[in-house]
Amino acid sequence: EYLAQALRNARLYAAERERARAAEELARLRAAEAAEAAAFEAVGAALGGSLDPPALYALILAQVTRVLPCDHACVAMYDGEGVTFEATWGTPRIAPGTSFPRRALWLPEGRRAPVYVPDALALPGWFAVPPLIGAFHDRSLIAVPLRIDGRAVGSFDVSSRTPHFYTPHHLRLAARFAEHVAQALRNARLYAAERERAAAAEERAAARQEQAEEAEVLSRIGAALGESLDPERLYALILEQAGRVLPGDFAVVALYVDGWATVVAALGDPSPPAGTRLFPAGTDRVWLPDPALPLGYLPDSAAERRWRDLPPWLGADRCRSVISVPLRVDGRVLGHVSFASRVPHAYGERHLRLAGLCAERASQAVRNARLFAAEQARARAAEELVRARDDFVAAVGHELRTPLTAIVGFGELLEARWEATGDAQRRATVRKIVASAHRQRRLVDDLLLLARMDGHAMAVRRARSAIAPAIRQAAEEVRASYPGQQIDLRGPGGLVALADPARLVQVVANLLDNAAKYSPEGSPVAVAWRAEGAWAAIRVRDRGPGIPDAHRGLLFARFGRVPGSRIRAGHVGTGLGLYLSRQLARAMGGDLDLEASGSGGSTFTLRLPLAPDTPPG
Ligand code: ADP
Repeated sequence: EYLAQALRNARLYAAERERARAAEELARLRAAEAAEAAAFEAVGAALGGSLDPPALYALILAQVTRVLPCDHACVAMYDGEGVTFEATWGTPRIAPGTSFPRRALWLPEGRRAPVYVPDALALPGWFAVPPLIGAFHDRSLIAVPLRIDGRAVGSFDVSSRTPHFYTPHHLRLAARFAEHVAQALRNARLYAAERERAAAAEERAAARQEQAEEAEVLSRIGAALGESLDPERLYALILEQAGRVLPGDFAVVALYVDGWATVVAALGDPSPPAGTRLFPAGTDRVWLPDPALPLGYLPDSAAERRWRDLPPWLGADRCRSVISVPLRVDGRVLGHVSFASRVPHAYGERHLRLAGLCAERASQAVRNARLFAAEQARARAAEELVRARDDFVAAVGHELRTPLTAIVGFGELLEARWEATGDAQRRATVRKIVASAHRQRRLVDDLLLLARMDGHAMAVRRARSAIAPAIRQAAEEVRASYPGQQIDLRGPGGLVALADPARLVQVVANLLDNAAKYSPEGSPVAVAWRAEGAWAAIRVRDRGPGIPDAHRGLLFARFGRVPGSRIRAGHVGTGLGLYLSRQLARAMGGDLDLEASGSGGSTFTLRLPLAPDTPPG
């Protein structure tokens, strides 16, 4: 009875223990299932997020190792002849990105389904590369090929140091995780492709925007060029518009003015004011673009001494990248347009092209400005000519009337008082009439000569002409118009020039006439002549007020008269004398010039070729 009871108890106990174990096993399985479900859920959530592939692989490995016992897990990608570990877990630690030659490892490359290797030691070539040899004793191995669009791109592996460790359940788990890894990979590829497409689209849009901006900038500059002739405004506008398409900190237009590269417009920092002289033209101490090239580019001015020494950038590395474009007008370089940035290597092909286009517009502005200035000068000259002609007509009228008045006056006087006048006085009056008539004839001759010169019909003789007698004759003529005028004559008697004797007298008389006419009464005049090399040099010197430097250019111009000149009472000028005299001197193979002039008086020098056999003076 007792024994039977003990047996029943033992059976009950055993059954109870069995039930408890079963319940425990069930609970363990449920817990494992829950953990697995949680792990897959976490992986799924991560996949739905926008994590990049390496982070996703690491996250998947972290979840795998929670539910799939192992000593090592990894995601490895095939990459040409190598294989790269994208993420690893456990020992040995392999940094993500480490690559090994593909043939040195055992890989499930050709397989489609997951592979279970119960003991890796049996595999040929199992991790034959350092540092894996010896350090890595994994024996049981599950390797799941990762395939995308039917192509093996890598594998997902878990391994344990214990041989024959894994069950079919583990194999299924690994396969499911591998599916997620492949999914992550696919997502990443799609994402990368999408990003590439978006970047390309963005690039296209940016290029279109740039093109539109360029077109607008160039059209604005073009419109301004068409509307304005004010060069300063145009340069400033060109720099401003260029700044919209050319990155940089500084831009300048510099033109060569009086031998200096001079700022005419600047933008940014530094901003030298217009008129700042930068460097003398033609210096080789300054970096300038090669004149043979359309433009110059200095990618880093720190390496170029000639740029660093250039004021106002002296010693500063404020402008590191520099584009400089010569401003060419009709083949001549008249200046430069430069664009600069504080960043070295700031400019690319497009910027160089744009700088060239903007500089071309600036050249156009320079050309327009010059045309405009030339046009203005022409208009001024035309106005000047009209004014000079008006003055001339008035002066000629006066000049013709003065001797005529004398002739008529003295003639009438003679007629009225013939009997009452003595012989000597009559003769003196007739002389005055004759002198006035000569004077008038000379003026008429001048006018005729001018008319002939205008018609290019002037011809002069070139014969042997003795200088001394010609000068004496001229002095006589002038003395007749300026009674009491002192004229000193000094020079060799034998000097002979090749000239037209009448014209020679005319030129010297004109110089003497001016010397007397523009000096105060009683002021002496001197003529000196001598041989100088192959020339006869005749100098007419007065002690008058001199001719201001600023007006020298007027002297030999047609109708040119120095404003404010004081003329002796009773005389007038036409502004023709020196013009005609120089033309005559040149026609005779010589020249006429103002040699010196100052407060002590003026010296005019007439040069004529010496006759071949003249003895040295
Ligand atoms: P004009 O008939 O007016 O004298 P010229 O051609 O002979 O014409 O001279 C041009 C101008 O040069 C004169 O109007 C005068 O202002 C200036 N000039 C010429 N000679 C002298 C001189 N010796 N001293 C000062 N001024 C002079």
